Amino acid sequence: TKESGKNGFSFYQPASGPGTPHQLQLETELRRALERNEFEVYYQPQFNTNTNEIIGVEALVRWNHPERGMIQPVHFIPLAEETGLIVPLGNWVLRSAVIQCKKWQKSDSIQLSVNFSALQFQNPTIISVIKEILDEADFNPSLLTLEITESIAMDVDYSIEVLRNLKTMGIKISMDDFGTKYSSLGFLKKMPIDHLKIDRSFMSNVMYDSDDAAIVKAIISMAHSLNINVIAEGVEDENQLSFLKDLKCNEIQGFLLSPPVSVENFEVLLQKYTTN
Ligand code: C2E
Ligand code: CA
Ligand code: CA
Ligand code: CA
Repeated sequence: TKESGKNGFSFYQPASGPGTPHQLQLETELRRALERNEFEVYYQPQFNTNTNEIIGVEALVRWNHPERGMIQPVHFIPLAEETGLIVPLGNWVLRSAVIQCKKWQKSDSIQLSVNFSALQFQNPTIISVIKEILDEADFNPSLLTLEITESIAMDVDYSIEVLRNLKTMGIKISMDDFGTKYSSLGFLKKMPIDHLKIDRSFMSNVMYDSDDAAIVKAIISMAHSLNINVIAEGVEDENQLSFLKDLKCNEIQGFLLSPPVSVENFEVLLQKYTTN
């Protein structure tokens, strides 16, 4: 099943519920994994299809488990969210990705996107934590994009205030999974957003389902008229790519161009797809 790891071990079992022995054991393992530095950041390039260049990269965490091998986020991010461990884990990802991406900047041309959980966002120290991470790495804040979802909007006024502070620092905000929730449009209107990401659930059927195609078209044209950058994720084939190109959506992320890869493999891609 989808929830099973390589060897059939079912890692995250929402049905087992918080507080059950299974859940508690996983929580302990997750905590220990953080201490033992078992997490690893993978990087997926984002391309500009006009220039065929890498313009950005999304940091995606994996758990390199000593016995079970590489564990995908779907098996541990939900538990990390439930237990609050996403805060230290997310900050660890941010720090690692910023330090790594600093090495890749030759002419400040690669935008780094990092996923940002609602819990990290709600943490009152968030602004100073981010500032410290950026300062330590001497990383240009305007090259950092935080990917947020609507789940941050529990407290709209608070969220807007935090987003404004981040934007004052120069940080960019991207709305991830756009279109998957009810209030996407209201959210977009209220929040100071720079980018939006078309969710890959729309992309997967865009060539076969006329409703999905219509939604993708509408999102792109809306983003263009609102002057918001739009990026499509989950692009897996040439047909989807040319569909997007026709609509002048030129920022693309997906398996067609590259899956998320390790640091070493990302450096190979950089050699190939950047001119600087
Ligand atoms: P997301 O933020 O929507 O990330 C995009 C996911 O789509 C990634 O899955 C990526 O590997 C996958 N993907 C990219 N292109 C394609 C494609 O062409 N086809 C298909 N089928 N999939 C594609 P991944 O790495 O397994 O991450 C899953 C989710 O886990 C992420 O979804 C994000 O919500 C969460 N996540 C990952 N890393 C972090 C993190 O550091 N912090 C937080 N808070 N969440 C994270
Ligand atoms: Ca960008
Ligand atoms: Ca994302
Ligand atoms: Ca997404």
